[in-house]
Amino acid sequence: MNLANLLARSATMAGRSPAVFLGKQQLSDYATLVRRAATLGHALQQRYRLAPGERVGLFMSNDPAVLEILFGCWWAGLAVVPINPKLHPREAHYILSHSAASLAFVTRDIGDPLAAAQLPLPGLLDIVAVDSDAYAALLGGEPLAKPADRGPHDLAWLFYTSGTTGNPKGVMLTHRNLLTMTLCYFVDVDSARAQDAALYAAPMSHGAGLYALPHVAVGARHVVPESRGFDAAEIFALARHHRDVSMFAAPTMVRRMVEHAAARSEDVSGVKTVVYGGGPMYVEDIQHALSVMGPRFVQIYGQGESPMTITALSRAHLMDLAHPRYLERIGSVGVAQTAVEVRVTDADGRTLPLGETGEVVVRGDTVMAGYWLDEAATAHTLRDGWLFTGDMGSLDDDGFLTLRDRSKDVIISGGSNIYPREVEEVLLRHPAVAEVSVIGRKDPEWGEVVVAFVVAREGATADPGSMDEFCCQHIARFKRPKEYRVVGALPKNHYGKVLKTELRARLHAAAADDSSTPDGKQK
Ligand code: AMP
Repeated sequence: MNLANLLARSATMAGRSPAVFLGKQQLSDYATLVRRAATLGHALQQRYRLAPGERVGLFMSNDPAVLEILFGCWWAGLAVVPINPKLHPREAHYILSHSAASLAFVTRDIGDPLAAAQLPLPGLLDIVAVDSDAYAALLGGEPLAKPADRGPHDLAWLFYTSGTTGNPKGVMLTHRNLLTMTLCYFVDVDSARAQDAALYAAPMSHGAGLYALPHVAVGARHVVPESRGFDAAEIFALARHHRDVSMFAAPTMVRRMVEHAAARSEDVSGVKTVVYGGGPMYVEDIQHALSVMGPRFVQIYGQGESPMTITALSRAHLMDLAHPRYLERIGSVGVAQTAVEVRVTDADGRTLPLGETGEVVVRGDTVMAGYWLDEAATAHTLRDGWLFTGDMGSLDDDGFLTLRDRSKDVIISGGSNIYPREVEEVLLRHPAVAEVSVIGRKDPEWGEVVVAFVVAREGATADPGSMDEFCCQHIARFKRPKEYRVVGALPKNHYGKVLKTELRARLHAAAADDSSTPDGKQK
């Protein structure tokens, strides 16, 4: 089924329901939204002669027009290529050219620098700014009566991975993938309802935008903050105004919201649900979040290759404080979502016994069709019908999956595996530590040794001796860091994920410096 039918159905059922808001201001109801999408779809076919299956890039800050463009493209049978607005024009250029996009929609703040860079894009017919006359003209015609026929395996969304190593890869997500993701939202994540408001504080090119789908399916409201991004004060003000607000947030955003709410005794009653995921949420942090904001959280674990849909840790699990394994559970990523099977395997793909750590593999209708124009990477990642996630984890006998780390982040020291996350969880409980990231450094004697990069809490001193003692009290000696580096901030990518590659590069550079000094001493 074409995803555009989700919008068509909601508009038929409740055309006068409010649909899109910028801040507090309503811009359209569902009847208007569907007419704009269907008209845009018609213009894409007529004016640009785009044929089903062609790709259309969106290089846009969060904007109310994102929704009509997504659905307009699907209406015409096209595939969308949303690009993270924080990317450099050169990175956006790579994605537009790799996907052979025929057209790109932009917001001027990031579209103008892209156009000014004048990078060659031979296949691109036009770059259309959404506040231009050209865009308005596309919406001035007649709507296309019904969405183009699309099969379950047709491409809907080409999702470029964050690419912390090498070029980003284009994950091919089909209409079936995203429809299944949508249905899993209702079963495993939250009960979206027409009275809810989806708030877009995280980039709509990724998780937040994907979760527009369940909210369109139930005819809910869609709110783009005027800041177009993340601002804790604005979020709470909008939540108080709109009520029943749901949003997707990366763990760093949750942390900032919670700090803000705690510092100002903020009224958080307008927030219905914060779905968090995309990176590790430490036990300490989620406990604090629950104590400040109450039962408003749900965790999901997914990756572009199985979008938003591998496991979920429900509101009920997060609130089951009396459960004997409560702390273990809130440190996990929950249980397999309804439409997928999850296993933990050894290097040869054999299922490991419960409790043992191995690679997490996933099978189900949310799993991508493959990587765009990259057969080798597809064959490496999709094997025997299973998606090899590259994440290491273990399952318990209640089905809860605990993630350790990406397989490439595991530290092997003296032949033993050390999972950085475990060391990070311990150090975060130290009173002087605000943030921490643990990586391995090559070592002639041990193979690798553990190094912790630590950001101290404001006004506190992160003393290596005290952190070392703290680790000895909580984890095996061999897991404790051999070195602590206190830094002002951790390097993070556009999604707030710590860039361990960058930390490794720093260690590498420091080692090179040391080896050129006569005594080669560690700093
Ligand atoms: P991306 O494809 O950019 O969304 O990144 C997906 C990766 O983020 C996953 O493979 C995990 O390594 C990590 N990730 C996603 N969700 C979670 C979560 N809830 N907890 C820990 N790591 C996560």
